[in-house]
Amino acid sequence: MITVNSIFKKFGKLEVLKDFTLNFERGNSYAIMGPNGSGKTTLIKSILGMVLPDKGEILVKGLSIKGSNDYRKYLGYMPQIGRYPQNMKIGQLFSMMKDMRPEIKTYDLDLVEAYELDKIKDKSLGTLSGGTVQKVSAALAFLFNPEILILDEPTAGLDPIAVEILKSKIKNEREAGKLILVTSHILSDLEELTNHAIYIFEGEVFFNDSIESLKEITSEEK
Ligand code: ATP
Repeated sequence: MITVNSIFKKFGKLEVLKDFTLNFERGNSYAIMGPNGSGKTTLIKSILGMVLPDKGEILVKGLSIKGSNDYRKYLGYMPQIGRYPQNMKIGQLFSMMKDMRPEIKTYDLDLVEAYELDKIKDKSLGTLSGGTVQKVSAALAFLFNPEILILDEPTAGLDPIAVEILKSKIKNEREAGKLILVTSHILSDLEELTNHAIYIFEGEVFFNDSIESLKEITSEEK
């Protein structure tokens, strides 16, 4: 469903992704793991077209992301830190997003409802707590019922109840056969939410196998 083919990315002299090749298949949920600075967000942003690789090719459902922006309709993205126009109200942001996709007639409002975002729709984004911004980002990622969900540290900054709501939503989407990519440093979250682990080290794929085999290896090392 997503093919990442021999991607290279440098920032200045820093080689962040080095000959990076991976396939992400429908119906699987992938943990994207690795130390700080290993290239997880750079990989995700490359798939989203927000970072331009120096070399290589990325295909989303067979569409090259270099061709047109058509592939983006398949993707729902929850950023690590959501950055929104500070003076815009929550309700206005959702209306604007809906206006950008006029072909979509039905919305997935599960998280809007669970997080009671309607009750605070007149609050400006600049006045929200970090956790509430995360709730807005989560609700937006699922809004158009995308086939592929890319979630960058989705549980960071959320209170425990909000975390449970989001985890249950992610699990439901996985059971519905979506492709899900999750980055996180919280191993227990990844064990719960994903079935496949990709461990990135210094810009290369260091481990690419089931979460079960990763657990076996890490428990043998203890
Ligand atoms: P973390 O776990 O801290 O979120 P990560 O694995 O997601 O880390 P990336 O955000 O992909 O890491 O960053 C990889 C490296 O690339 C880091 O050294 C980072 O400083 C650098 N980097 C990322 N984006 C840029 C940029 N726009 N300009 C310069 N350097 C960048």
